[in-house]
Amino acid sequence: MDTSKQCWRGIILLGGPGSGKGTQAVLLAQKLGIAHISTGDLFRENIRMGTELGKVAKTYIEKGELVPDEVTVRMVRERVNRPDCTNGFILDGFPRTVAQADALNQVLAEMHRSLTAVLNLQVAPDVLLERLSRRWTCKACGAVFPEFSAPPRAGCKKEVCDGELYQRPDDKPETQRHRIEVYREQTAPLEAYYAERGLLVEIDGENSIERVHQLILDAVRCVEEEDRHTV
Ligand code: AMP
Repeated sequence: MDTSKQCWRGIILLGGPGSGKGTQAVLLAQKLGIAHISTGDLFRENIRMGTELGKVAKTYIEKGELVPDEVTVRMVRERVNRPDCTNGFILDGFPRTVAQADALNQVLAEMHRSLTAVLNLQVAPDVLLERLSRRWTCKACGAVFPEFSAPPRAGCKKEVCDGELYQRPDDKPETQRHRIEVYREQTAPLEAYYAERGLLVEIDGENSIERVHQLILDAVRCVEEEDRHTV
């Protein structure tokens, strides 16, 4: 992708827990030179730092429930106005309810911006469950390792990090099914919400990481081509 003529991009990654949103958001953000905003990561950072926001979020996250819209929207509103978002952002895990999507529209209108695309990573529920049970996260830097089937002995080893790997409490089997159910009930309606607005692009998320990345790049390129022709 040509980033020399950098235009503003606002991209949403939709998809159930374990669909690969985080992995793909990191790759796409690097490729496009825009910010990666993961609401889950922001909450976990606040929990680690013991902030008031972290204390509130923890009670919901542990149960696999959504943090209230008001709290989440306030956090995102503050985040998208930081300087690293000048060229745009990829939202990973936000919005997760129709109320959050409406609030995002409001925030974008205030910024005089509009969404580029909403990419829906489609992965069947049984594949999501299988992926979540194999997922390990670095305590220090938050990097996600989908490939291990048991806790690896070595630490993170991402760049200079040597953090300990752990299984997120909400990735444990008891909570997994509930999170997928919460997604089906509260977040899946966003597929129709964005389809009605002509923004939804379906991506087959059951492919390899590299293939999904390529499908996403092709989709973004295609949307931008169409926009150029309709201006
Ligand atoms: P994630 O890392 O995206 O899987 O998010 C982990 C957890 O953080 C979710 O199960 C929710 O409890 C909470 N969370 C993340 N994003 C949101 C959001 N947009 N709205 C409400 N809760 C969220």
